[in-house]
Amino acid sequence: MTRSITVLGATGSVGASTLDLVRRNRGNWRVVALTANCSAVELAKLAREFEAEVAVVGDESCLSDLREALAGSGVEAAGGPDALNEAAARGADITVAAIVGCAGLAPTMAAIEQGGTIALANKEALVSAGEVMTAAVAKHGATLLPVDSEHNAIFQCLEGEDLANVRWITLTASGGPFRDATREQIEAATPAQAVAHPNWDMGAKISVDSATMMNKGLEFIEAYHLFPVGLERLRIIVHPQSIVHSMVEYRDGSTLAQLGPSDMRVPIASALAWPQRMDTPCAPLDLAAIGTLTFRAPDEHMFPATRVARECAEAGGAAPAVLNAANEVAVAAFLAGKIKFTRIVAQCEQVLGLGIPPAPNTLDEVIAADADARRRAGELLERV
Ligand code: NAD
Ligand code: MG
Repeated sequence: MTRSITVLGATGSVGASTLDLVRRNRGNWRVVALTANCSAVELAKLAREFEAEVAVVGDESCLSDLREALAGSGVEAAGGPDALNEAAARGADITVAAIVGCAGLAPTMAAIEQGGTIALANKEALVSAGEVMTAAVAKHGATLLPVDSEHNAIFQCLEGEDLANVRWITLTASGGPFRDATREQIEAATPAQAVAHPNWDMGAKISVDSATMMNKGLEFIEAYHLFPVGLERLRIIVHPQSIVHSMVEYRDGSTLAQLGPSDMRVPIASALAWPQRMDTPCAPLDLAAIGTLTFRAPDEHMFPATRVARECAEAGGAAPAVLNAANEVAVAAFLAGKIKFTRIVAQCEQVLGLGIPPAPNTLDEVIAADADARRRAGELLERV
């Protein structure tokens, strides 16, 4: 049976892994929309290959390049935020939300409003919107399947189970490239060092988030919304090998875990085929070759991001949206060489300290809280 698919963020790391799976099972899929921010030539190449209905660039200034690159292909070209939302709302059977940052929120919500299946990689959207997104999922009868490897693991460990029986949900964290670094090394960390993740090959923003551990902080909030067992049942453990992708412990003392290679095609395939399974080209798990799996408690003195995120989850309302926006601004500034690595999380705390807007009830209110926090974070940057 052919299914239709839209990939928001098709030119990124998760987008490429998704399209690799689609390419290997080409006959099973009809591609509706592929989107990118501005990589018009790359996007056009993908749109031609996958015979997409429409290709969209979020940045309207890249639309003329896209039109030119798609000339004669029969693929529609569009650009700008409204065009992204319109493409997301074309009602594909499954929409892979793989834009990075809160920029992916509105198109993800547009897909949710069609009531289809959303394979969610774009954690910042759920962190920012929280209950506004989960309420929309319920209202429109959409299905939200987590693609983030930890949440996909938890989702698999929870299948057929009663949440009331859960004692703990444990998110594993690789600890990032600085997990064994000294304080001096972390103080002096460069963008090149921060994006060089030991286990995963990912986009720049999430790589920096892994290095600060803000990725795990955002994932903690993401887990809170996806699996409503209460914050007190969520915890984080550092597992440097990234083989155990997360675990669920039940009240009888049984712990279920999902294991696999550090390859995003595994959780993406799990979401694309759910509730069935599909083949991937990933190498089988060779535990004898891996030999040792280790675990340790996170160090929140060296990496305060998980503490800050937990406090935002506890505060609720707009606090996670403010944290996410402040972090996006700080990570961009770090990547641009404007601030030190350790300023990223420090600046998030400063922005949070400037005040939290009232709890958002609508998408527009979430977007306003995000914009407000970005403005404050930008002003702070100008002062340093
Ligand atoms: P990436 O930077 O490689 O790709 C991002 C994609 O979003 C690109 O297609 C880009 O063109 C598009 N984009 C960026 N800004 C945009 C904007 N303003 N408007 C419209 N489109 C825009 O990122 P990635 O590593 O693929 O991550 C994507 C999402 O998946 C992130 O939320 C990340 O946290 C999450 N995620 C990624 C991985 C991974 O292994 N890469 C794992 C788990 C979760
Ligand atoms: Mg993850």
